[in-house]
Amino acid sequence: MSLDEYRTLPAGQQPTWPDVGVLEAACTELRSLPPLVFAGEADRLRTLMAQAAAGEAFVLMGGDCAEMFVDASADKIRNKIRTILQMAVVLTHGASMPIVKMGRMAGQYAKPRSSDVETREGLTLPAYRGDAVNAHEFTPEARRPDPWRMVEAYHRSAATLNLVRAFTMGGFADLRQVASWNRGFMANPAYARYEEMADEVDRAVSFMAACGADFEALKTVDLFSAHEALLLDYERALTRIDSRSGRAYDCSAHFLWVGERTREVDGAHVNLLSKVSNPIGVKIGPRVTAEDVLAIVRALDPEGAPGRLALITRMGADRVREVLPPLVEAVREAGREPVWICDPMHGNTISSGSYKTRRFETIIDEVRGFFEVHRTLGTHPGGLHVELTGDDVTEVLGGSETIDEQGLARRYETSVDPRLNHQQSLEVAFQAAEMLRA
Ligand code: PEP
Ligand code: MN
Repeated sequence: MSLDEYRTLPAGQQPTWPDVGVLEAACTELRSLPPLVFAGEADRLRTLMAQAAAGEAFVLMGGDCAEMFVDASADKIRNKIRTILQMAVVLTHGASMPIVKMGRMAGQYAKPRSSDVETREGLTLPAYRGDAVNAHEFTPEARRPDPWRMVEAYHRSAATLNLVRAFTMGGFADLRQVASWNRGFMANPAYARYEEMADEVDRAVSFMAACGADFEALKTVDLFSAHEALLLDYERALTRIDSRSGRAYDCSAHFLWVGERTREVDGAHVNLLSKVSNPIGVKIGPRVTAEDVLAIVRALDPEGAPGRLALITRMGADRVREVLPPLVEAVREAGREPVWICDPMHGNTISSGSYKTRRFETIIDEVRGFFEVHRTLGTHPGGLHVELTGDDVTEVLGGSETIDEQGLARRYETSVDPRLNHQQSLEVAFQAAEMLRA
């Protein structure tokens, strides 16, 4: 069971590196660097994922479509962390359920693209494949894939993770601070609702304090890192053998997923992830068949180990109620209980003028469809996977501040897919909390 077997298999969505000697040098450097996460942490996440699979916890995954090196700043990272933690408090409060928190961060630097090249005004250059591969700017120099960018992605990820650990362990995440997390925001229905909920949490905490409760558990949170395991050279270089158990872990993040475009069961991505012990996910879109899903389940989770596998469904709001039920039933009939996670973003991308966007209402509708399907079948809606940022961007249409088609231009900053802004993220959390409670 060689970790390198994937090298003999077809691998989609890999960059065309111009110089293999440079690639080898960068990979040698990556192999010499310390792991970003530890096996014990990945195991702990796996235990929590098992609870989500059994309907005893709910997973929240959020972050950028693609992180960018320039955005790995203290403010932007803090805003993202705060958004995820606020959403998690809303969900915990609304549904009285533990929330497993994961950031699409500290490693989300590589993107699959529909074409290998991009042409503008007669000039054809390599497509932007994420900051770990090339730069977004449309010049021959910027678009040339450079393996040393993977090393930079590692260092940016390390710095990001360091800040995540500081924020979540150093007092910022203390539940007694929930009200202060929102200070500085203007009046808005989503914020007003958040303030109200924060007051209730404060009152509950004061009540417990008066009863002499111990607050150790409220002081820190676990926020796990996750990204798409797309660049095989990067993921392989960070795959390490745990000295305690002798098992392999992909130490680039706690949780890795395979994207919709690289999930072939005989392909390199599934093969590499089948050999690591992290909890892992696979994205599945509306064209997947029940046979495909069962083959994925057998390849990645042959033993049916609790918490090992998450199936992240991204069907589109108009398809989810029709295409999801037969898949869920087939998996259940096979005796398996993966974590079912709803990605309401990737099946609902539209164009408005020159912008790639999504409608808030459509996003909510897919989440609602996902809950309906699982409620009808008696299976567990296990989590939510969204693209978000902690900033006040205008990339998704709608929400209570009603970003309209003209409004998109105001602050459209993503280099790939449109993200929920801070306030839209809170609104999604309030709505999902209601669905979870129902
Ligand atoms: C993504 O998560 O940004 C992505 C490319 O998703 P998918 O693989 O579901 O298309
Ligand atoms: Mn995306």
